[in-house]
Amino acid sequence: MIWIENIGNYEGKEVVLKGWVYNKRSSGKVRFVLIRDGTGILQAVFSAQEVDENSFDLADKVTQESLVELKGIVRKDERAPGGFELVAKELKLLSSSENYPITKKEHGVDFLLQHRHLWIRSRKQFAILRIRAEVIKACRDFLDNKGFILIDAPILTPTSCEGTTTLFEVNYFDRKAYLSQSGQLYNEAAAAAFGRVYCFGPTFRAEKSKTRRHLTEFWMVEPEASFMELFDIIELAEEMIVYIVERVLEKRKKELEILERDVSLLSNIKRPFPRITYDEAIKRLQEKGFKINWGDDFGGDEETFLSNLYEKPLVIYYYPAKCKAFYMKRLKENPEISLSVDILAPEGYGEIVGGGQREDDLKELEKRLIEYNLPREPFEWYLDLRKYGSFIHSGFGLGIERTVAWICKIKHIREAIPFPRMLDRIYP
Ligand code: ATP
Ligand code: MN
Repeated sequence: MIWIENIGNYEGKEVVLKGWVYNKRSSGKVRFVLIRDGTGILQAVFSAQEVDENSFDLADKVTQESLVELKGIVRKDERAPGGFELVAKELKLLSSSENYPITKKEHGVDFLLQHRHLWIRSRKQFAILRIRAEVIKACRDFLDNKGFILIDAPILTPTSCEGTTTLFEVNYFDRKAYLSQSGQLYNEAAAAAFGRVYCFGPTFRAEKSKTRRHLTEFWMVEPEASFMELFDIIELAEEMIVYIVERVLEKRKKELEILERDVSLLSNIKRPFPRITYDEAIKRLQEKGFKINWGDDFGGDEETFLSNLYEKPLVIYYYPAKCKAFYMKRLKENPEISLSVDILAPEGYGEIVGGGQREDDLKELEKRLIEYNLPREPFEWYLDLRKYGSFIHSGFGLGIERTVAWICKIKHIREAIPFPRMLDRIYP
C-alpha cells in the first residue's frame, strides 16, 4: 500500500493509489483532481495526451468523495499542496458518491455537527484530530518516560468523587451505578501499589450549561504520585504541558499550518510559568471590576480574563477549601486554604489542569466526609489507604480536549473530539 504522506519516497516512479475525491478543477486541456486518503491530499494532473479518453472524461465528471483508484507518476512540484503531484495515467471509479452534503459553501455548525461522521473528512478537522492524537501520544510518552505506570481506572463506579450534580446514573443490574467523572480516587490506591501512576480514559459529566469549554464526555489524563507535594506536582504539570506543546510543534507542523496557527505563541511555552495564588487572582479580578468575592470559584469569564494576562499558562494555587473536593489537603497554617492548583491556558482558553495534594490524615478525612455530607460506607476502601501506611501524594487531571482546543486555537471544544457529546447532542 502506498500512502500519500509517504509519496515523496516515490519520486519519478509509477504508483497506484486509492482515495476519495476531495476537489477538482479544469483549466484548458488540463484537469486537476485532488484526492485524499486519510494521510494527506495529493493533486493529480490529467492531460488529454497522457491519459486514455475514459480517464480524462472521468476526471471531469467524478464527484466529490467518490472513491477512485489512480495510477500515475510522482513528480516534485513546489506549487502543489504537499510538494508533490501525480502525473496521471489512469483513473478508475471504485465507488461513487452522489450529492455529498458538505460542499465548499459555508455550512452552519449545527448542520456540520449533524454530519460529523462526514465532517471529519475535511481538512481542518483532519488537522485538529491528528493534533489530538499527537497530544495523547505526548502525554503517554511523557509519563511513561518518567516512570509512571498506566493503571486504568474503572468507568462504572458505585459513587462519585466530586459532587453528585453532574453524575450520569446508569442501571447496574438491580442497583445504580455512575459513569466515572475522574479516575482519581482509584489512582490514589494505585499510587500506593505502584509509586507513580496515571490513568487515561473518558470521563463523564452531566454538564447542564452550554459553554464552549464543556463536553459531557471528555478524555482526561490523570497522573498521581507518591511522595510528591503540591509544588512537586505543579512542576510535573508544567513540564508535561511544555512537552506536549514541543511535540506538536515538532511533529504536526503541517497541521498547524492548515489551521493557520500562530506558532510563535506556542514556541514561547517554556518554563517557568507565572504562578499566582487564588488571593492574588481575586485581587486582579476585583481591580478589573469583576463582581467576585473571596471564596467564589472562577467562572468562564473570570478564567478568560486571567488567562489573557500572560502569554504562558498561568498557575493559580491555594484555592479556598470550600471551592474544592473533600480529598484536598489543607494548608497547615490556614485550614480554609486547600493545597490545590489549576493551570489556565493562555489566549483566553481557561483551565486545562486541575489538581493538588491529597489529604493523607485519616482523622481529617473522616471529618471531611461529614463536612461534605458524604456517606462513609462507599468510601471505606478509600479510608483504608490512610490506615495502611498513609503517604504524602499528589496528582492532577489534564483535559485533552481543552488542551487540543488551545493548541489548535479553535473557538469551541466540540471540534477537539471526534464525536462530541453535549447537552443537546448525542448524534451521530
Ligand atoms: P470547570 O470548572 O472548567 O468545569 P473543573 O474544575 O470541573 O473544570 P476538574 O474537575 O478539575 O475540572 O477536571 C480536570 C480537568 O478536566 C479540567 O482542568 C479540564 O481540563 C477538564 N474538564 C473538566 N470538565 C470538563 C468538561 N466538561 N469538558 C471538557 N473538559 C473538562
Ligand atoms: Mn466542571
